[in-house]
Amino acid sequence: MNIYKFGGASVRDAQSIKNILNILNSQKNNLIIVVSAMGKMTDALEALCNSYFYKTSDLQQALQHIKDFHFHIIGELFGENNDTVLTKVNALFDNLQAILNTEPSLCYDYEYDRIISFGELLSTTIIGCYLEKQGRKAKFIDIRKCLKTDQNYRNANVDLTLSAQLCQKTFTFQDTFMYITQGFIAGTSTNQTTTLGREGSDYTAALLANLLDAENVTIWKDVPGIMSADPKIYQDTKIISRLSYKEAIELSHCGAKVIHPKTIKPIQNKKIPLYVKSFLHPEAPGSVIREFDEKLKLPPIYIDKNDQLLLTLTPRDFSFIAEEKLSAIFATLAKYRLKLNLMQNSAISFSFCIDHNEAVFQNFINELKAEYEILYNKDARLITIRHYDEDIVRQLTQDKNILVEQRSRLTARFVVSEKEEK
Ligand code: ASP
Ligand code: MG
Repeated sequence: MNIYKFGGASVRDAQSIKNILNILNSQKNNLIIVVSAMGKMTDALEALCNSYFYKTSDLQQALQHIKDFHFHIIGELFGENNDTVLTKVNALFDNLQAILNTEPSLCYDYEYDRIISFGELLSTTIIGCYLEKQGRKAKFIDIRKCLKTDQNYRNANVDLTLSAQLCQKTFTFQDTFMYITQGFIAGTSTNQTTTLGREGSDYTAALLANLLDAENVTIWKDVPGIMSADPKIYQDTKIISRLSYKEAIELSHCGAKVIHPKTIKPIQNKKIPLYVKSFLHPEAPGSVIREFDEKLKLPPIYIDKNDQLLLTLTPRDFSFIAEEKLSAIFATLAKYRLKLNLMQNSAISFSFCIDHNEAVFQNFINELKAEYEILYNKDARLITIRHYDEDIVRQLTQDKNILVEQRSRLTARFVVSEKEEK
């Protein structure tokens, strides 16, 4: 059995959904298709959720945008012959409307998961109906019934034992060769909807592969494979055709966008190969992540993260940055769901990089500013080079203002910026 995962970009419009058929035509094995929300619909649902929770006036507009987007795609895929899909999609929008008609609870994260999950429910419903219409029926599974998590809304932890039992009972392939289900979303044992963290549908595909002993996983993307750098920023980028699990974890941890960091462990533990391929050129080999006996020779790999905030905290009381202080800072970071992209400490200061989200950042510094003097740089850029050499580092950094520099045997990392603020 194989697992195919289609991300938002690979199901962003009618044309790309039609293209799924081409990909399926060359597939002979049993298959589970894992799909995420179409295009930028998770962002759109996030805006709807904020409007609902904070009671702003743009709720109807946000909802209409989501409806228009999906109904437009339905129009292009089904034409007049659209009764079944419309019945199902209207039922989903009725459920969504029913939530929006009630008073939100006090828990933002709970409301977030309830609302955001409609992106995946809508995409799998529409694509499932389309495949059926084209004579490629895939059995629809609501993954919330078999991928079970705790109640840590927005970043839920999967109960592997329970999920294994339920998934094995569900995905039996007794009466079908193909299933379609949602990435990213899951459910608690009391059937509340949860999510696994943004961009989490790769992780769903990897979990299902692990729990069901899949032969392999393919992630279909709008890029030809795992690239040595972002072609929009660097010249002479190459496809990296073969990568070990360990290297893939390092790259995704450093911020490579191609795969969600949580994806690798579940497939590594069962030695399941993961392919990254272009949905526009399904015949091209793309990249594979698996175990290799030999040591792979890799070119320099560049990972850029723009729009970073570099913060430096110094205790106002001149105490040292020791374990106790660090653990309090980490707890505050976790509270605001801020992920450290890089960190460095000295005796009296702790510096770190996070993705820039202005609203969250203001709340975060308000909480810490009584205790710490806080210096920060907005618009910083974090550059990582795996498999670097001195020439490369020199070329890359010669015209830049380096704020932080870190090197290990294989990885060089730089935070660079133009301006300093306080
Ligand atoms: N739709 C979700 C998101 O955009 C999950 C995913 O695409 O992997 O974060
Ligand atoms: Mg997505």
